[in-house]
Amino acid sequence: ATPAATMVGSTISATNGVLFKGADVLERVRGVDVVVFDKTGTLTHGDMRLTDVEPVRGGVAADGGDGDAATDGGLVEQEADESLVLSVAATVESGSEHPLAKAIVDGAEDRGVDVDDPENFENVPGHGVRAETPRGEALVGNRKLMRDNGVDPDPAEDTMERLEREGKTAMLVALDGELIGVIATADTVRDSAKETVAELHDRGLETVMLTGDNERTAHAVAEELGIDPENVYAEVLPEDKADAVEEIQADGTRAIMVGDGVNDAPALTAAHVGIAVGSGTDVAIESADVTLMRDDPSDVLKAIRISEATLQKVR
Ligand code: ADP
Ligand code: MG
Repeated sequence: ATPAATMVGSTISATNGVLFKGADVLERVRGVDVVVFDKTGTLTHGDMRLTDVEPVRGGVAADGGDGDAATDGGLVEQEADESLVLSVAATVESGSEHPLAKAIVDGAEDRGVDVDDPENFENVPGHGVRAETPRGEALVGNRKLMRDNGVDPDPAEDTMERLEREGKTAMLVALDGELIGVIATADTVRDSAKETVAELHDRGLETVMLTGDNERTAHAVAEELGIDPENVYAEVLPEDKADAVEEIQADGTRAIMVGDGVNDAPALTAAHVGIAVGSGTDVAIESADVTLMRDDPSDVLKAIRISEATLQKVR
């Protein structure tokens, strides 16, 4: 089928919800060698769900000093510990807009765990969040966030690694400078992502995954999708995503960057072609050359096909 493309001002709007910002974009799409995907929300659905809450033994007392938990039976103590970990984490996260935060707060509410209002909330981009909670000063985030704040993440390392190998995003929870537990969320890979990666490879294009998530989780997801482990850029800070794209393009390689978040805007600009996916933020859409109206990675293929077909017609 020949896609219909029409000029509307400087925007070429093609059928099937692919918007090209200017005619030269069609030309640029054709010349690319690599497609770089943001992981969360682009290759995955981005609708994280809370999956695990694991107290770390030797942390804070199970009843947390509020006197409502029975602490004399092993099982009860275990449950009380879990609710403390989740309550502290959800209280801090209720100050955050991050998709991980929403998963944790929703998970706490579903489990009937108290979520209080945090005070002096602070976001540490790419690492996590901190705030004062009724239980104490709390941190939720990755290993670096803990180390930077004098909390040793090592007692939770086995738990973290197990969860990350399952492709989950595992986060550490600390209270008053002590590690109290690990919580994890899982995201699901979009059905069309795997087929899209395979078809891009068939067309001779390379695929790359770019994510702020940790190495192990990123590799588990890349393996599920058929992305070469050597092409996984993990633990990339939001401000470093554009640098990663520039690094990929340093040898003259031309990259399409596909992303959805605020974080992704500079990387979309840095790429030979920036593609924003539909549910993306306004900032991402403004920075992009192509906007996909739907939330479907296979529309990247559609953009490539449209640019090829349109240029053939013009010539
Ligand atoms: P993404 O590529 O998924 O957008 P981010 O740069 O937002 O990644 O976050 C990278 C990592 O920082 C997350 O995997 C998580 O470990 C940690 N992190 C970020 N925001 C939060 C948060 N609100 N709560 C806990 N951890 C967080
Ligand atoms: Mg993101």
